[in-house]
Amino acid sequence: MTFHGDFQQENAGPRFGGIRILLVEDSRMFSAVLCHRFQTELNLSVVCCSSLKALREALSQDGHGCSIAVVDLNLPDSPYGEALDCTIEHDIPTIVFTATFDLNTRARILERNVIDYVLKDNEFALDNLVATVRRAIMNRKTRVLVVDDVSSARKVLVDLLRAQQYLVVEANSGLEALAALEAYSDVELVVTDHHMPDMSGYELTRRIRHRFGSDKMRVIGVSSSNDRMLSASFLKAGASDFVYRPFVAEELQCRIANNVETLTQMKQLRAAAACDYLTGLYNRRYFYDNGPKLVNECLRLKMPSAVAILDIDHFKRLNDTYGHEIGDKVLKAVADRLQTIFEGSDNLLSRLGGEEFAILFPQMDSLAATKLCDEIRSDISRLKVTADDEELSVTVSIGVAEIAGYETFENHLNAADQFLYMAKHKGRNLVYSDSKMTEEAAQ
Ligand code: GH3
Ligand code: MG
Ligand code: MG
Repeated sequence: MTFHGDFQQENAGPRFGGIRILLVEDSRMFSAVLCHRFQTELNLSVVCCSSLKALREALSQDGHGCSIAVVDLNLPDSPYGEALDCTIEHDIPTIVFTATFDLNTRARILERNVIDYVLKDNEFALDNLVATVRRAIMNRKTRVLVVDDVSSARKVLVDLLRAQQYLVVEANSGLEALAALEAYSDVELVVTDHHMPDMSGYELTRRIRHRFGSDKMRVIGVSSSNDRMLSASFLKAGASDFVYRPFVAEELQCRIANNVETLTQMKQLRAAAACDYLTGLYNRRYFYDNGPKLVNECLRLKMPSAVAILDIDHFKRLNDTYGHEIGDKVLKAVADRLQTIFEGSDNLLSRLGGEEFAILFPQMDSLAATKLCDEIRSDISRLKVTADDEELSVTVSIGVAEIAGYETFENHLNAADQFLYMAKHKGRNLVYSDSKMTEEAAQ
């Protein structure tokens, strides 16, 4: 269990390799900039068409493979949005990018069940469009539960959400909603009606909040009630938002998007708080938060576990000889190697700080952990790090302690630290542990 950083460098956001976008735009300037930004910022492959004719040709090819489109409403050979009709006929979820906009145009756009529309009416239009495309693609991984006992009302919500690419699950009662939350563990947002025969939306919200915090699950209430207090009741029960019916589609869409974005930001914050900046491994905080849970689970199962502290030998000397930057490079190389070794395993690897790493081995006794750590020690000693014109190598010492009884987590780590001290004392590039000590005593 190593760190899989799903958060990105500043401003980068997720990138979507393998997805092809159709860009229908006659302005060369917009087309060139958007094509570049879709490729570089979102890693999309782009099919550009500057006219309806070019669009029809592109779509006539079997396997054009476009799963999303951005369409300018007005093209020289399609002044009335025929290009939009064309992508919709081909079942390609579409975002409209338009300079002309009035209520009639809006009605025409919404009738076609588009993902969204972005107006070319300010200097941020291109940023908005790129963000809209990114959101639409991310929505394909976001599951929303829609709860309403009236099927026609539920369908309005479901259609709106599906148009925006969300994965939608439906429930026609509060009890069915709770069952759906059991069945689909990835639901992140619940949109619920209030008046339902078995359970009110208000009661459902309370029950959801009992189980899920607002950092993991968002709840939006919707109701056609005239009771102006209802929205306050929902919010006090823990709803994240509330919208009275009949709603304006764009308003509900924006409120949903804002809530989903809040969840994304929370995930990014959690990931950043768990991550060591230099190496990208889990940090000390994450290790101390999660290590005890893994240990306790093993103790509950009456299984042993082991903890190791790994420390690079003579690292200060390396820093003093080659400089801090090369020191950092060596630290990262060791961290990368450890990450590769532990990739996909249940072991918890972290950087405790400095040139010290900790590894928790659930369901492993001292003998097995010592053997594994010796392989790691030997592996790291063969690692070559290129610095300037030299190939550097480092060795590590590792202390391993078995965890077989209830003690503070700190005490278990102290035990491993004692064995590390002995490994250093015995000459470094060594693993020392309780099982090693027993073995030595027997000889
Ligand atoms: P030993 O073999 O006994 O472990 O000796 P050592 O020199 O590795 O241990 P010591 O604790 O004396 O020195 C560790 C050095 O690691 C001192 C500190 O400046 C350096 N260090 C700590 N964090 C970082 C870092 O993030 N980057 C770099 N380049 N150096 C770091
Ligand atoms: Mg050291
Ligand atoms: Mg040290």
